[in-house]
Amino acid sequence: MPIDEFRRRKEAVVNDVEPRNFRIALLPGDGIGPEVTTEARRLLGAISSLEPSMTLEMENFLWNADFYLKTGSMMPPDGLKTLCQFDAIYLGAVGDLRVPDHIALRQLIFAIRQGFDQYVNLRPVRLLRGGSTPLAGRGPSELNMIFVRENCEGEYSGVGETLFPDSADEVALQTSVFSRKGVERILRYAFSLAKSNGMPLQSISKGNALNYTGVLWDRIFAEVSAEYPEVPATNLLVDAAALHMVLHPERFGVVVASNLFGDILTDLGAALVGGLGFAASANLCPDKRFPSMFEPVHGSAPDIAGKGVANPFAALWAAGMLLGHLGYPNWETSVIEAIEMVLVDGRVRTPDLGGSASTAQLTDAVLEALRVPMTPAPTS
Ligand code: NAD
Repeated sequence: MPIDEFRRRKEAVVNDVEPRNFRIALLPGDGIGPEVTTEARRLLGAISSLEPSMTLEMENFLWNADFYLKTGSMMPPDGLKTLCQFDAIYLGAVGDLRVPDHIALRQLIFAIRQGFDQYVNLRPVRLLRGGSTPLAGRGPSELNMIFVRENCEGEYSGVGETLFPDSADEVALQTSVFSRKGVERILRYAFSLAKSNGMPLQSISKGNALNYTGVLWDRIFAEVSAEYPEVPATNLLVDAAALHMVLHPERFGVVVASNLFGDILTDLGAALVGGLGFAASANLCPDKRFPSMFEPVHGSAPDIAGKGVANPFAALWAAGMLLGHLGYPNWETSVIEAIEMVLVDGRVRTPDLGGSASTAQLTDAVLEALRVPMTPAPTS
């Protein structure tokens, strides 16, 4: 729809019905996090100026390495209480050489994911039109998966202990926590997604070696699978899954995995669809008791931070997912289509895509693409 028509509709609705106001908490973080969050904010601002039925109120929280160095903590003691008042959270990336990674990530990202019961980490692994894959002869129709990663327990539960620290007998224990409730709900979410999208499902585990957690996962997979006879479902060992993602990506649809396995396989997935610049994610609290959080999968990329050359696509896509979650799936689709238009056009590319454009220039191109009528998708 042309921009004038959007503006006309917005004015008409503003004069008529109050649009819904959504409050978004922005956590830019460290490194390229603030750079890509600025772009996500620009995109969200542009869309709210076009969409008649919503307004977005965005507030920045500078909870990052600097904040840690000043206060000894990655967020204030009442940080979750503050964030709880928002409709959604947007996170850039966290990670700074001055703060141990396990402290920075656990005190902020894991605290939010676990504290707000965001047990679904949704990660599309999708080759966009105009994007490139290292897999010869493969196209968008063969690289279209949605990962559903368990996000609150499993290998990242944070349970463990260091025994006899700083001695020759030092032992580190990292306990994986797989609860029946946790495994059941993530599998049910994945099956339900596969059913509504008409996709096959792959469940990833390692039941041959992990004789407690893997076996429980596989047993619950068999139980939940029986509730969804219409969903073609396969159980794959994680090592075999890595092999098949490269050799037979077209077999994959909705892929459900534990916290660690999902984390690793989605970086492989990102590599298959053009790199971390194309990896977006949503941390969902499906019953909406708490706000959900949206973020690019990539980290703070210290090697390119401050240069203004980070690829903003993943960050923009994550902002699109946020809009989808707020009830605007049409805008989520439009954001993805706009990214595709920029890729197909090919003139504006950041260095990771072989060009010399800046982060802001790539966002400008996406915003420009959003403002013109969408062209029909060519077949892949
Ligand atoms: P990274 O994702 O930051 O970077 C890996 C490589 O990909 C780097 O070469 C980087 O330049 C490149 N890259 C990443 N995002 C890019 C983008 N948008 N455009 C172009 N290139 C991009 O992973 P890392 O180097 O392993 O970790 C750096 C820091 O980030 C660490 O402190 C780590 O703990 C943290 N980290 C944070 C998160 C998060 O906040 N969710 C996720 C992963 C890593």
